[in-house]
Amino acid sequence: MKLVLKGGRIIDPSQQLDEIGDVLVEDGRIVAVVNVEKKADKTTTVIDASGLVVAPGLVDMHVHLREPGLEAKEDIASGTRAAAAGGYTTVCPMPNTNPIIDNAILVAGMKEKAREEGVVNIQIIGALSKGQQGKELAEIGDMLANGAVALSDDGHYVESAYILKTGLEYAGTFGGLIISHAEEESLAGDGFMHEGAVSAMLGLRGRPAVAEDIAVARDCLLAEYTGGAIHIAHVSSAGAVECIRQAKQRGVKVTAEVTPHHLTLTDKAVIGFNTATKVNPPLRSEEHVEALLAGLKDGTLDAIATDHAPHAFEEKDMEFRYAPSGFAGLETALGAILTGLYHTKKLTLSEVIDKMATTPARILGLEAGTLKMGAPADIVLIDTEQEWTVDSKNFYTRGKCTPYEGKKLRGKAVATIVGGRIVMQGGEVKE
Ligand SMILES: [Zn+2]
Repeated sequence: MKLVLKGGRIIDPSQQLDEIGDVLVEDGRIVAVVNVEKKADKTTTVIDASGLVVAPGLVDMHVHLREPGLEAKEDIASGTRAAAAGGYTTVCPMPNTNPIIDNAILVAGMKEKAREEGVVNIQIIGALSKGQQGKELAEIGDMLANGAVALSDDGHYVESAYILKTGLEYAGTFGGLIISHAEEESLAGDGFMHEGAVSAMLGLRGRPAVAEDIAVARDCLLAEYTGGAIHIAHVSSAGAVECIRQAKQRGVKVTAEVTPHHLTLTDKAVIGFNTATKVNPPLRSEEHVEALLAGLKDGTLDAIATDHAPHAFEEKDMEFRYAPSGFAGLETALGAILTGLYHTKKLTLSEVIDKMATTPARILGLEAGTLKMGAPADIVLIDTEQEWTVDSKNFYTRGKCTPYEGKKLRGKAVATIVGGRIVMQGGEVKE
């Protein structure tokens, strides 16, 4: 089957490409870019991409698909439809499900389910410790040998420095990457939002930024000591950014991601006690957001990941203190980033695609995030100018809860192609 995307603005940071042209897809792979000779025949599907950006499909290295065990919140089918709607062609679910994905059999089972039910590609992240209890390492080598792309106790901080140290050493021998949810529990654990002027005003106990700073500092030091590779999830504090910046300068194998919500919202969003603004780490104050933007721009923060964390509506529909943390992110990420960072000239389009597709794929060693000839035809078409209003009723995710509810965004994925198949067009997921 042949597919031609005609006359779009092709942006591919993996080959420093930003040009108007065509992309030709054959048998699920990219066979020509920009100068496509007339190879089209009767069987070729042609999509007019004029006025649109044609880019590598987005890669989200941090989502929660909630399957197995928590399907009231989300499952593979609903979560990957949300991904397709948002322009993502690959998502990496975290292992904090029920059961926790902490052995090779569960990894293999998830991979099979992903193939059967996923609308987009799924790459599995295994647990670092057994049951994510932080006491004993999980079967790291077996999981990596069976296709896990990284290891994480996400949802929890790895409190034991010893466990993280041995994990870094052990994973390092297999070239495995550890992803850290870096918030020191004894400082952050009881808080509901960022500690600062707004938390004081609202009378809510805070999660101080220093809890994240300490955790990131320790993680960087252990990566340096062991020579292992660590990736810091959802960085949200200025101190963490500075710590990662310095560690990178020393040659530590550290990479980091930041979420659209931490880049575009502040703790002021919590005023009114909207539970759709409750998340860990919390939305922080303006000076932290500015430090995150600076870190993203100078390469300290490598990737943008959503931390898509859907909950059933009833779970979020309660008093702020008791509501679970997290919210849906896959269907608003691109719009929020284009609105908040591209249209305000903080990032170029090429930088946006790099942070949302090319670099996360590179960090995880995936054959994705590129339009190079021979690569799988995972492609997103973006209308950077389309204005739309966020309405969670229209979401494909079961997590009908977002801090962007009712907000006007500018920029949207208008088609998603996975392995040469058009899985979303005009906002409608086809499978
Ligand atoms: Zn986390």
